[in-house]
Amino acid sequence: IINIDDLRLGNSFAALPPVFYTRLMPTPLPAPYFVAASAKAAALVGLDAAQLASADFVEFLSGNRVPALSQPLSAVYSGHQFGAWAGQLGDGRAILMGELNGPAGPMELQLKGAGLTPYSRMGDGRAVLRSSIREFLCSEAMHALRIPTTRALSVTGSDQRIMRETPESAAVVARMAPSFVRFGSFEHWFYRDKPEQLRTLADYVISTFYPELTAEANPYKALLAEVTRRTARMVAHWQAVGFMHGVMNTDNMSILGLTIDYGPFGFMEAFDAGHICNHTDQAGRYSYANQPQVGHWNCYALGQALLPLIGDVDAAQEALGVYQPEFERTQDGLLHAKLGLSTAQDDDRLLFDAMFKLMQAGHVDFTNFFRALGNFTIEADTARTPHPDRALRDMFIEREAFDAWALQYRQRLRRENSVDATRKAEMDRANPKYILRNYLAQVAIDKADKKDFSEIAKLLAILEHPFDEQTEHEAYAALPPDWASELEVSCSS
Ligand code: AMP
Ligand code: MG
Ligand code: MG
Repeated sequence: IINIDDLRLGNSFAALPPVFYTRLMPTPLPAPYFVAASAKAAALVGLDAAQLASADFVEFLSGNRVPALSQPLSAVYSGHQFGAWAGQLGDGRAILMGELNGPAGPMELQLKGAGLTPYSRMGDGRAVLRSSIREFLCSEAMHALRIPTTRALSVTGSDQRIMRETPESAAVVARMAPSFVRFGSFEHWFYRDKPEQLRTLADYVISTFYPELTAEANPYKALLAEVTRRTARMVAHWQAVGFMHGVMNTDNMSILGLTIDYGPFGFMEAFDAGHICNHTDQAGRYSYANQPQVGHWNCYALGQALLPLIGDVDAAQEALGVYQPEFERTQDGLLHAKLGLSTAQDDDRLLFDAMFKLMQAGHVDFTNFFRALGNFTIEADTARTPHPDRALRDMFIEREAFDAWALQYRQRLRRENSVDATRKAEMDRANPKYILRNYLAQVAIDKADKKDFSEIAKLLAILEHPFDEQTEHEAYAALPPDWASELEVSCSS
């Protein structure tokens, strides 16, 4: 067992001038208890899950005990929220404790929900157990889906009640990333007209996280291009698993291209391209179909902020120009993999578009459709009855339209001499069977409210292997039950 005081948390961000943050201590969480930990996240920083459940670590991970020599802080940033300039925001309830070191290199540890900060505005500095469990599970699920994301180390809870729509219990998520710097961290200094601070922050980010860019003729332009590229790739990956972030404000966009700030997120179930997962987002700015464009828009906001450093508009435009091709290239690759196509051929886009149109018309379950598509056959005698791809066909309302698409798909597969068994094995590695459906999270949350945390651990274990057939957990791939249609997620967390 490691002594908390031996953790020796570095803190490269704390070496920046004090205008970038406020040093402060977390507010102790009354009588904290262990809720959940990720062994895989722990391994990244050389810890193990059993350690995290120890009384000492629960104190540490809830913000009740601060390791000697550490320099906790909350960072300042600004941002565009729902398309409008929101001015100063900042870590209103997150406290950066410092960096843990392990095989993954330095990982910053942030305690979200650890109390009031100078940036709390109207908030109480706390996070509710419900949202903390959702963030914990989804961070780790996204990583297992091979999508760049911040990681979640643990959740600790307390019986302290905090007020949202109704009273809820408080919790702290310990989350990790190499950096939590956001697009909004740069916008902050641009809008305050502080080019020196802007440069200091950009130089810190480049030298610490993008050292390969220091050799570029214009490192700031190169930074914008690389962040734009990563953002495009990240959003393409979201689209491919039906992930909806819910609050793609520029203060929630990571400078490392990681999925960050899990609030009212959701995974697409019955397919609807216009689906809005965030109940608070009435206009649907952050709907599934809008995410790719919003990602681009957010990169423009970053480009605007970096303009004083980049020097000229054309250079910034050029850097931003990588978004669309990178998005399309990534999306194309992912869609080919999802359909089990190992070659790219003319008109593949038409096949994809026709498929999404059918899915939309039939409100087909996104995850289950792609998983079932892996069982599609080209070798079977298509004239025989019953239809060889019956289960798939039955997912659609317009069965004849599906048959027409299936014929095209079969012909397309034949054109590359696809082999059923080989293709299925490959498709099962591209199309997850298990995703964090809202109702699955809710079952775990309801049990946790009664102090039974076993479902969180069980769900985590399943979601860590989303591509595997887990026959004993078949039920976790089931469509949402009727009661789930009443579930609403909002910004309230
Ligand atoms: P979000 O929509 O989660 O990205 O949060 C937007 C801003 O509100 C950020 O500056 C958060 O730190 C802050 N915030 C959200 N919830 C709270 C809270 N309960 N207490 C203090 N600040 C909060
Ligand atoms: Mg945020
Ligand atoms: Mg949030």
